[in-house]
Amino acid sequence: MKMPLVLVAGALALLGCTTDSVSQTGRDALLRDRPARKPKALLIMLDGARADALAAARMPAVSSLRDGSWTPGYRGAWTLFGQNVPDARPSSAANHTAIFTAVNAEKSRVFNNGQTKDGDYAHWPTWLKRVTDAVPGTKGLFIFSWGEGKQYPSSPNVRFIHDSDANNGKNLAKILAAPDAPDAIQYFIDLPDHGGHSAGFYPFSREYLHALYTSDTYIAAALAAIRSRPTFKDEDWLVMVTADHGGYARSHGMWGGQASTIPLVLSGRNTPAGRLPGAPRHYDLTATALAHFGLDPAALKLDGRPLTTTVQDRPRPLKDGLAARQYAGGKPLGVRKVEGSEKLAFENGGDFAVTLWARLPAKQKGDPVLFSNKDWKSGVNPGIALVASKATDGAKAPGVCFNAGRPDKERIDMGTFDVEPGQWTFYAVVRNSEGVLTVYQGRADGRLNWICAPVPDILVKSGPPFHVGQDGTGVYRHALDGDVDDFALWARALSHEDVQRIYEAGRQGLPLADLLL
Ligand SMILES: [Zn+2]
Repeated sequence: MKMPLVLVAGALALLGCTTDSVSQTGRDALLRDRPARKPKALLIMLDGARADALAAARMPAVSSLRDGSWTPGYRGAWTLFGQNVPDARPSSAANHTAIFTAVNAEKSRVFNNGQTKDGDYAHWPTWLKRVTDAVPGTKGLFIFSWGEGKQYPSSPNVRFIHDSDANNGKNLAKILAAPDAPDAIQYFIDLPDHGGHSAGFYPFSREYLHALYTSDTYIAAALAAIRSRPTFKDEDWLVMVTADHGGYARSHGMWGGQASTIPLVLSGRNTPAGRLPGAPRHYDLTATALAHFGLDPAALKLDGRPLTTTVQDRPRPLKDGLAARQYAGGKPLGVRKVEGSEKLAFENGGDFAVTLWARLPAKQKGDPVLFSNKDWKSGVNPGIALVASKATDGAKAPGVCFNAGRPDKERIDMGTFDVEPGQWTFYAVVRNSEGVLTVYQGRADGRLNWICAPVPDILVKSGPPFHVGQDGTGVYRHALDGDVDDFALWARALSHEDVQRIYEAGRQGLPLADLLL
């Protein structure tokens, strides 16, 4: 299939088509003095990098991309609530291919490892092939360490380098510093996935965090090489970082958010600064790269969408929208009904937030809840529940997970979070107006873990009131063995920073009330 080259608005602006306020002569002079900078793009994929681990790891190079401080004149956009491909389990090959082609597995036909060789690249070529075919004189580079990458088809202007991560790191820095550096580069780093498989994909796993740090040193070398280019001031770089999947315990590939919540970071001269709203997908970076070279992802019928807007989260007083709070002076709450909660102004599909602390034993009898406003006899019933003991897809043992009913008798199950027996552990569930549901666990080690999913429709309203330590009916057959403390419910979303604040305060023994003043 031959795809048309479509110039997007940004490219037209570069050609001087939208400068009403400048006279024709002045504009000609401006264009003569300041020729359009040459577009360049580097898309980095950290294999197996969970979003929350990225926040916990020491990664100064990625941080400098995130805030645009890696070089003057550049800005950064980011999210730690990104998602991988929606229609395949979070395997490497399905997501490498999605990042490389900017389409879902349904189009690429790569749903799992071992299927890279069967991909439909005739209809859905890699972004490197698209750019080098469409823009005369451009060159591409695919540099990677995972052997399956060799199965992507070659194309005349795209060079493949397959070597170890360490060699690739050194080699790429040399290539980027050279005058004839490629214009479009896809760089896959395998290292974090090794750390996760051998020591656990957790923000508290030292080996995993160290693998992320080492990966960051490769990125730092690449950025230094880009900055050192004699032609750097005449170039317009777009540098992007994302992941193919996260992980849980020592594996990935499970549904339920643990392996699907990933980071997205991009930095460019024209990148809007701030947080990327919603739950963008890794291949939205690919679409942004294609637009950077003047191609139109929508005209190409890609699933990736260019990332063009960011938001600045403004702090709000925590007491705004607080609908109910249950606190017993630092003593566990026991089972209790949240009086009047059946009348609270929750809307189906609307925002809400819940925070609490819980202390659980290693094992529960059955699947009791920490809180709920639903009849927990069935997960498809309307309402929400934080379940103390349930194993979602791929979990090694039952743990804490979130359930909600959805229209048409569908359900959502997010988790599983490992229980820390006997430890007070923080939980939060937030659904925001961007359609993203986030479930948090704040552990005794001070690490806040989270998973998220785009959830456009959720049946928050159920009929029954909220109970702490019981479901909405108050008589669910499995009683909670454990304690809940400082339960709070908002009829609005909390920001990530709000959740962090409540967790940190609780770790220091402060009840939520101390933050409401
Ligand atoms: Zn992977």
